[in-house]
Amino acid sequence: MTLEKMDDFILKHRDDYLNQLFNLLKIKSISTNEDEIRHCANVLKSEMETLGLDTQLIETGGNPVVYGELLNDKNRFTLLIYGHYDVQAVEPIELWDSNPFEPEIRDGRIYARGAGDNKGQLMAQLLGLKTYQALYGELPINVKFIFEGEEELGSVHLAEFVENHKALLEADLVYTSDGSSHNSGDPLILLGVRGVLILEMTAKGADFDNHSGNTGNIVPNPAWKLMRLLNTMRDDDGNVLVDGFYDKIRKPSDKEMELLKRLPYDQQDIAEKIGYEDLDMDGASYYHKLTMEPTFNIAGIESGYTGKNAKTIIPSTATVNMDIRLVADQDPEDVFKKIEEHVKEVDPSVTVTYKGAMRPSRTPAELEIVQAVTDAVAHAYGKEPLVQPSMPGSLPDYVWTEILNTPSIIMPYANFDQHNHSPNENLKVENFFAGIKCTCNLVRELGERNV
Ligand SMILES: [Zn+2]
Repeated sequence: MTLEKMDDFILKHRDDYLNQLFNLLKIKSISTNEDEIRHCANVLKSEMETLGLDTQLIETGGNPVVYGELLNDKNRFTLLIYGHYDVQAVEPIELWDSNPFEPEIRDGRIYARGAGDNKGQLMAQLLGLKTYQALYGELPINVKFIFEGEEELGSVHLAEFVENHKALLEADLVYTSDGSSHNSGDPLILLGVRGVLILEMTAKGADFDNHSGNTGNIVPNPAWKLMRLLNTMRDDDGNVLVDGFYDKIRKPSDKEMELLKRLPYDQQDIAEKIGYEDLDMDGASYYHKLTMEPTFNIAGIESGYTGKNAKTIIPSTATVNMDIRLVADQDPEDVFKKIEEHVKEVDPSVTVTYKGAMRPSRTPAELEIVQAVTDAVAHAYGKEPLVQPSMPGSLPDYVWTEILNTPSIIMPYANFDQHNHSPNENLKVENFFAGIKCTCNLVRELGERNV
């Protein structure tokens, strides 16, 4: 009954809801487009004010955060919802079938830059709240929204913002709808992310490239140096040999292992999608490797000459770029130090340069709130969501779990093929409305649990 009531209401307000989203989608809030960013933040602020949210723009070192809250009772549950109103650039524009800032519905999909990433998802959150208010009146929980304007730049000031506004942001749960739902179309709940450490190592030989005959056997070749070093860092089975690399890794719990086993796995389909037909492992190992194990990836190596014809030189430098995905509770700084120590011991002439990092996060699957959200999502969608203990990629989810010290759940509302960051970005209309219903039902069920 309750859920049908939501469906009816959303259906009745379909055009209104789409219009509200379209207003936001028309604003060219590309992260680097300062005027449009400010305009978008202000439009969002007034949208939130009409919902009765106490809203403010808060300055950061870059684009402002739009923060809004609707507080009822300190003793009640507080939900903090995160999203971002900035969007990616649109190039190459000629590959779009319609204007990226003139939203258009074709074949049941809303086409526009930001449709899925992330304006459609954040509007679904706001309209979910609106739907709740229209159907039931006062909210049964406290709700806070934080919408940032720099996600597409790597959330440059988010950690600092959270650090400086801990009291304002205090909550029982952080809830994010960003990214895409599962390939199968099933709702997907993510309980964390892998972190990442990016670094560069450079070996040096002579001061400049040398003639390989005239100085062959005389000046050292840095490409060999670098390869020798790399071979001391990882064995043939993929185990990282850097002392202490695995020390801080949190062991997956029984519950997490069980969740991994439940995730759908079609080896042949995946093999085709990733262009690697030799893929040969069971689903549990596949997901374990993607969510519970760090990587030690060479992203690129550069040295000497690899062009057409021959150029007989001894290169003067060899450089490797590495990105190392980290899992809870590895610490990028600590791992970087350990790598430095390893290099110093094996070949002190090689320089190691830190290029950036993001910490991993993982909210324990055993928490009661995880089950409560899973149930609310299941009821809204009429099917059990897939629960993945971590996403293989990286997002700044640690700002919630570590800085704010609050559990965090990511529940993407957008379709798998939303083409975010690409031409013809889209959000299925049904996904938009399902998201609105999901937020509305989440607020309702969290409220019932509360009393
Ligand atoms: Zn994005």
